[in-house]
Amino acid sequence: MTLHTRRGGDRPPRKGGDKPSGLSIAVLVVTLVATTVAAQTKVTPPKNKYTPEQDVQIGREAAAEVRREYPLINDSTVDNYLDRLGNRLVAASPADLKKPQFEYSFTPVNLKDINAFALPGGPMFVNRGMIEAASQEPEVAGVMAHELAHVLLRHGTANATKAQGFQLGALAGAIAGAVIGGGWGEAISQGSQFGLGTWLMKYSREYEKQADLLGAQIMARGGYDPRALARMFETIKKQNGAGPPQWLSSHPDPGNRTQYINAEAAQLRIAPLPNDSGFQQVRNRLQSMPPARSMADLEREAGSGSGEGRSRPPASVGRVGEPVPPPSRQYRTVRGGDLFQVSVPANWTPISSNNVMKFVPQNGYGEANGQETMTHGVELGVARASSRDLRQATETLVEGFLRGNPEMRIAGGQQSMQMAGRNAIITMLEGRSAVGGTERVDLQTTFLADGNLFYYLTVVPEREYDIYSTAFARVARSIRLNDR
Ligand SMILES: [Zn+2]
Repeated sequence: MTLHTRRGGDRPPRKGGDKPSGLSIAVLVVTLVATTVAAQTKVTPPKNKYTPEQDVQIGREAAAEVRREYPLINDSTVDNYLDRLGNRLVAASPADLKKPQFEYSFTPVNLKDINAFALPGGPMFVNRGMIEAASQEPEVAGVMAHELAHVLLRHGTANATKAQGFQLGALAGAIAGAVIGGGWGEAISQGSQFGLGTWLMKYSREYEKQADLLGAQIMARGGYDPRALARMFETIKKQNGAGPPQWLSSHPDPGNRTQYINAEAAQLRIAPLPNDSGFQQVRNRLQSMPPARSMADLEREAGSGSGEGRSRPPASVGRVGEPVPPPSRQYRTVRGGDLFQVSVPANWTPISSNNVMKFVPQNGYGEANGQETMTHGVELGVARASSRDLRQATETLVEGFLRGNPEMRIAGGQQSMQMAGRNAIITMLEGRSAVGGTERVDLQTTFLADGNLFYYLTVVPEREYDIYSTAFARVARSIRLNDR
């Protein structure tokens, strides 16, 4: 799955040797052009245990979720324009990578952040902010060609192949969660470093370079100079705002991006530029619309609402610092996707994001000191295991956790125990609670059949531990894992 460079490999046989000189020059020119085209870098799709049909199914489910959650533009001028542009790029894609099953779609999203993403099997979403940040059509085409290359090379399911063992439903949910989670998912994983979904849609530097090179080749065949892609990356990098742009966090710069894209461009024959007058029309159309909201606005609004029917977590459940009611004696059973099932006190609110589910009592979760904080409650989730050894894998997980929570420390050694009928480890941690005093955090970990870690984390102020210990233990006993 590495990049192979093939130079002058598929050179067609030279024709004619004793032709009149005029014709001989023409033949020579044709041969040179053919050689130049053959000099493009060959990009090979990485190992993938999923079928193209499964890509389509995962992408379709995740896209349905995105359409429910995101504000779409729904304007025929913009919709048709993006459609035409996308289809032109698909037409310019290598035949051997275009799976007949794939369902390509190109949907403009009414958000001002400079972002775009594509889901397995074809659905692509392009933010209004991306179109507005571009100065010319080839720049938009560049980002779309890069996204399309991820689809054609099936990088989403190639990532999942590395993770292994995830059922399709869980995968679609994780991918949708990763995309929709946006800054929110990051805020949570900053604290916990957990969240497999984010990882699934985060491409490695190797995949990025593949998407850049294949994207450049698609652009050239579609009539766009690939140097526009390098230019757009520079624009994205310079984008002002809090933290790095979302696009760059899932598409990390492999280094020397501009140089190798320009070098590839120099090897390619660029087809004539298509009529790009539609770009200005779309720009004018967007300008006539009310300003777009940002992802951060969207998350704030979701948080202040009832949270009903949304997969995005609410910003709070009540208010941190207000009295927290004790766990109800009534329990209800909740499913965590296809992966697990658990019973929790009936008065705890579920919050799910990526591959993490929290259950928190009223006033047990919200903002404190400018950070999202869980003062009371439990969290269940999946994390990548660094080792096949449970102790070692747990230690790595804990280290990540401690890095994100500088006031936390290990309060005792690891102890063996059982969770969901499997060998597990409990690690006791303690920190400072946002509501004052010492906070007690217990982490239980076990392996899933696929080698990932499943964990169960409990959080409560030390002085209230006695009120919660029975509930925490009962929740732990109720955990059922369905991964085998
Ligand atoms: Zn990428």
